[in-house]
Amino acid sequence: MDFFIGWIVFSILVGVYADTKGRSGVGFILLSLILSPLFGFIIALIVSPIKSNVVVRRELKECKYCEELIEKDDLFCRYCGKEQTQKAQPIKSDELKERLYH
Ligand SMILES: [Zn+2]
Repeated sequence: MDFFIGWIVFSILVGVYADTKGRSGVGFILLSLILSPLFGFIIALIVSPIKSNVVVRRELKECKYCEELIEKDDLFCRYCGKEQTQKAQPIKSDELKERLYH
């Protein structure tokens, strides 16, 4: 009986872990319950986090009026609505990470 409780608890932990990486927590819980928590954990470990992938793919720039981060190709700032000119500087990746994770 303890074995099954452990199985379920670890499956849920795998789901929670997968969720922190932007993956489907429920999906990983089911995967772990059906196959094994260890298998689910290994899959959760090797999949790349979704959130950081999105950040890497998107190119952001800083609105020169309100200094919020907007898409590089946006013609208008979605925060202050001001029109963006080509002069807006793309943000260096180091600086971007600092802004996103603080
Ligand atoms: Zn703005």
